[in-house]
Amino acid sequence: MIERRYIILGVAMAAVIGAVVWVVSRPQPLSYYCNRGEVFGTYYTIRYQGPEDLNEAVVAQMQAVDDALSMFNPSSLISRINRNEEVCINNDVVRVFRMSEWVNARSQGAFDITVAPLVNAWGFGYTHSQQALSHDQLDSILSFIGMTHLRLENRNLIKDDSRIQLDASAIAKGFACDKVAEALEQAGCPNYLVDIGGEIVLKGHNQQGQPWRIGITRPEDDSTCTQQQIQAVIVSDSLAMATSGNYRRYYYEGGEKRSHTIDPRTGYPVNHSLLSATVVAESCMKADAIATACMVLGAKESIQMVETMENVACYLIVAQGDSMNVVKSSNWDKMVKI
Ligand code: ADP
Ligand code: MG
Repeated sequence: MIERRYIILGVAMAAVIGAVVWVVSRPQPLSYYCNRGEVFGTYYTIRYQGPEDLNEAVVAQMQAVDDALSMFNPSSLISRINRNEEVCINNDVVRVFRMSEWVNARSQGAFDITVAPLVNAWGFGYTHSQQALSHDQLDSILSFIGMTHLRLENRNLIKDDSRIQLDASAIAKGFACDKVAEALEQAGCPNYLVDIGGEIVLKGHNQQGQPWRIGITRPEDDSTCTQQQIQAVIVSDSLAMATSGNYRRYYYEGGEKRSHTIDPRTGYPVNHSLLSATVVAESCMKADAIATACMVLGAKESIQMVETMENVACYLIVAQGDSMNVVKSSNWDKMVKI
């Protein structure tokens, strides 16, 4: 009888010890983190579920993009290329250059990273001049604008004119989102929302277990970025999206609005009824470059371009009198849940 009691006690103790070992050794649920700050002259908000706070890794990724691609950072690779120094470019610049070539070709030259001298001349670059340019001045600058003046050989970007300068601002933010997302993936984060100045890469769900919700901003003139209203809300568990618009960076000269998007084919800042272009694609750098191309092309040509691209969709907001109209590519509703 006594022996039976001992056996039952032994079994019970083993069960308790087993349960304790199981609870202790079981993988702990990952926590959600949020890192915020400023980068590339804008904000970033990175939310993710991960094994630890990854702020340092996130900031390192964005710094690496700045060190490679910012024309406002005098020691970046792109600034050194602009000064015609001998530079061996890294993988990041190669990836961005290849994508830039592709979007340049598909947009009939509307997106072009050799636009820097025009961006500077119109007062949106790293040199500051905001005076109107004459036709002759523009014509002479246009003679060295265009990606055909540039080629990649091994790790060297070869210019056929030393006056060529590069501006990757229209693709760098999107690329930085991709790089941060890649770092989060590598660190084992199953769920994240990367937002750098409105360019987005997201996957999975939020802390409440719901798909992420993001907004498309209503493009109302707002250079201070304080009055933003939401035009539409997107609910998604997998998305790379970028928005370009002329409602944040512009100035007035003699009553005329000068936007920061320049048509590299004419040399002039664009001035048409397309107020903002939101693009989704397989990568955020692709979406970012295509969104800028749309701002150059205007609504009609943008839709034509996007309809020829696989896995790309766009949502355009167009001014019509005092109101705004939405024009979407035919696959938008299929690719994006609103
Ligand atoms: P945002 O800064 O609003 O996200 P974009 O991604 O469209 O907008 O980037 C705009 C910037 O890209 C401009 O400030 C300028 O530096 C550069 N840029 C202007 N026009 C072009 C163009 N046609 N192709 C490539 N880059 C451009
Ligand atoms: Mg862009």
